[in-house]
Amino acid sequence: MIRQQEQQAAWEKLEKLAAEAERLADEQLRHRDYIAERNQWKVIRAFQKHQVSDFHFAGSTGYGYNDRGREVLDEVYADVFGAEAALVRPHFVSGTHTIGTALFGVLRPGDELLYITGKPYDTLHKVIGKPGDGKGSLQDWGVGYNEVPLLEDGGLDWERIEASIHERTKVVGIQRSRGYSWRSSFTVGQIGEMVRKVKAIKPDVLVFVDNCYGEFTELLEPTEVGVDLMAGSLIKNPGGGLAETGGYIAGTAKAVEAAAYRLTAPGIGGEVGAMLGTLRSIYQGLFLAPHLVGQAVKGSILAAALFEKLGFETNPRWDAPRTDLIQAVRFGSPEHLVAFVQGIQQAAAVDAHVVPEPWDMPGYEHPVIMAAGTFIQGGSLELSADAPIREPYIAYMQGGLTYAHAKYGVLTALHKMVGSGLL
Ligand SMILES: *Cc1c(COP(=O)(O)O)cnc(C)c1O
Repeated sequence: MIRQQEQQAAWEKLEKLAAEAERLADEQLRHRDYIAERNQWKVIRAFQKHQVSDFHFAGSTGYGYNDRGREVLDEVYADVFGAEAALVRPHFVSGTHTIGTALFGVLRPGDELLYITGKPYDTLHKVIGKPGDGKGSLQDWGVGYNEVPLLEDGGLDWERIEASIHERTKVVGIQRSRGYSWRSSFTVGQIGEMVRKVKAIKPDVLVFVDNCYGEFTELLEPTEVGVDLMAGSLIKNPGGGLAETGGYIAGTAKAVEAAAYRLTAPGIGGEVGAMLGTLRSIYQGLFLAPHLVGQAVKGSILAAALFEKLGFETNPRWDAPRTDLIQAVRFGSPEHLVAFVQGIQQAAAVDAHVVPEPWDMPGYEHPVIMAAGTFIQGGSLELSADAPIREPYIAYMQGGLTYAHAKYGVLTALHKMVGSGLL
């Protein structure tokens, strides 16, 4: 009984703390509503321009020839992202597959891919692969690879980038979001600056952006500031929590066509591909995405403000500019980390009763613990948290289809830490 009262008192204290954090970050939270509103209008206008209609949601079977829903969907995405063309498909199995398709589409043996934002996201390491790895990776196919690490302060090492761009450099890769690393994410403004500098060094280079987690967090997207090709996952931001699977590629018509040939087959490209029953949720998800991304980012801002109040280091800080969903919190001990992730799971509407444990996930190099009580398996616009079990024990949380859920998740995680004597 006493224990129960203590727990109740601890929860009430945390709620008060959350209210203080909300007051502190009021301006940042309101700014998120503004961005969501403008992006909502942008999406609606693209739907209107292309006269999206009920029959576009029907979905084709077989080859999927003349599937107007699919064709218009590509046009709507291209418009929203300010790109010449887009390829939006449920046939992409994940973000990694989508990014891999984009890169394989434009790179040929003898070309080189140069990542200028340091090591790319973990799952891409095997897509890049090693020469002779026998797995059909980029390097196995004879595509060269190089990367320029970020500077100590998180900035780009332009001296080294300039020295690394040469005749064979065909694609320059940029990862917008921090992924699983303690660095800043790159804003669209910064990406525009990178494009300008890279093209000044080599005008015919293609600039590729891994846009995962970035969509609709700002007023512009990378393809609106000169990026040639970008890719992302539909079970993250642009799927709006409704798209059941898939990915998108957007960019120049030529680069998107090359990616389409890689996804299906040369000569076929994006003109086939049955959409089955996926169209309505992909369209409606895109319609909802700006608002839901806004809710999720507000959740991240609250988490940052709260954890900072409690003495933890956060990245980004609560008042820093934001260009993705991800909120990193440095815990310093595996116990805090695991309690946090388990607390996020405990706050879910789905699978709250299961307790996540670290495991060796395919594509990742360290054991990873993941909280994902989601409607879409692995959907990370939904409230979720991931943490590779490695020093300095940083948890990456993201998502929340509603701000209220994200807030409940952070409070539940903190409450769990209090209950375990960790706070
Ligand atoms: C999620 C993510 C990927 C890969 O997406 P999956 O769907 O997990 O394969 C790639 N890059 C970044 C930055 C990501 O956040």
